[in-house]
Amino acid sequence: MALHRKLISIFILYVNLISCSSAQNPDTSNTLNTNAYKSITTADLRTHVSYIASDVMKGRYTPSKELLDTARYISDRFKKLEMISPKGAIDYIQLWDYKGEKVPNCIGYIQGSDENLRNEYVVIGAHMDHLGIIMGEVVNGADDNASGTAGVLELAEAFSSLKEKPKRSVVFMTFGGEERGLLGSKYYVENPVLPLNKTVAMINMDMIGRSKDNYLFIGGVGTALEWKQMIHKYNDTYNFKLELHPGGTAPSDNSSFYAKSIPVLFFFTGIHDDYHMPGDDPDKINYKAQTNIVKMVFEIAYELVNNNTKLTFRESNESLEIQNHHINWKRLGIKYKREDITTEQKTAWKIGKENGAMKIGEIVSGKLAEKYGLKVGDYIITFDGKLLPPDPLDIYRSIELLVNRFENGRTFTIEVVRSGERKLINCIWEGK
Ligand SMILES: [Zn+2]
Repeated sequence: MALHRKLISIFILYVNLISCSSAQNPDTSNTLNTNAYKSITTADLRTHVSYIASDVMKGRYTPSKELLDTARYISDRFKKLEMISPKGAIDYIQLWDYKGEKVPNCIGYIQGSDENLRNEYVVIGAHMDHLGIIMGEVVNGADDNASGTAGVLELAEAFSSLKEKPKRSVVFMTFGGEERGLLGSKYYVENPVLPLNKTVAMINMDMIGRSKDNYLFIGGVGTALEWKQMIHKYNDTYNFKLELHPGGTAPSDNSSFYAKSIPVLFFFTGIHDDYHMPGDDPDKINYKAQTNIVKMVFEIAYELVNNNTKLTFRESNESLEIQNHHINWKRLGIKYKREDITTEQKTAWKIGKENGAMKIGEIVSGKLAEKYGLKVGDYIITFDGKLLPPDPLDIYRSIELLVNRFENGRTFTIEVVRSGERKLINCIWEGK
């Protein structure tokens, strides 16, 4: 015991010596002992995830009242932490328009203490929206992305409770519309409320709740010269089994910032069976690993906001392929064409106003759709006997959900409209 303590004190002395020897870098050796660091807790993360991903929020669809409620939950916390609501947002909420309805981004920041550096901004962000209700089932999106949203809230609390204010300003953002194609973050970078050319880094957390065996994926590490070294330095504390990817573009909001030449990092714990499915629930989150990820982000962000020197941006366009995704769609062999269905078509096809159809844009050869004679230009109006939602992307996700539960040999129907006529096609599922 005593020996152990002695070793620790020597270690601390050593770390202090290192940090004193470098005037450029902030003294991060004590970061782990600060109340700020300790304020990041498993209990808090669990509370936030459980609420944001509860059935009350109905899957935080874009656009929806529940997504606005989620934004209010976040902005209430920003207010309690006495963060600044930037000009261009009202009570921390930046509203944008989607098909005539209002969708929120949440933005709050802590002003830096250094006279010059306070005009530079480090952004910590996550998307808060998800898929809503698919085929009558709430898709809660606990991992995707209540987990990252909770991370933003915990980091906002941590940075707010620092005794010594950070030198640079630190900005906390949660986006709407990510699941519809990164819409919230794209809107933000086109309509920034804090100058983008003074935004020195963006850290994005999307799906950080399903770490297995301490796995952690970090994307964007090629977008600044300094990232790799920083990541390895801080990972010493956590020993994550890291998978590092250089590219700044990913199927998440960091892409929008990278497109504006801002260094980015993307924290992610991988795809799983509940991805975009009703089983993505709060009780399946690995809160312990999530806590460590958020703590690691805190350490990295702490250095970013206090370091006198800035990151060196690098272009890094290597694209990121996320595996095990859309596998059932590949089996179906259908590529859809985005086309809204008119009221006249709905009336002619005898489907309700609240329903829709998916136009087939391409049939992949050798797959199921070709085998059963589906054709380019057909409109799918029912699948497995079920009517479909109005938005093509929601139809895609509905069919994904249905097919995900099919066993090999399962019979099902696809009903299409071809040249104005309804046609019922009987199929047998192959696979799984
Ligand atoms: Zn998603």
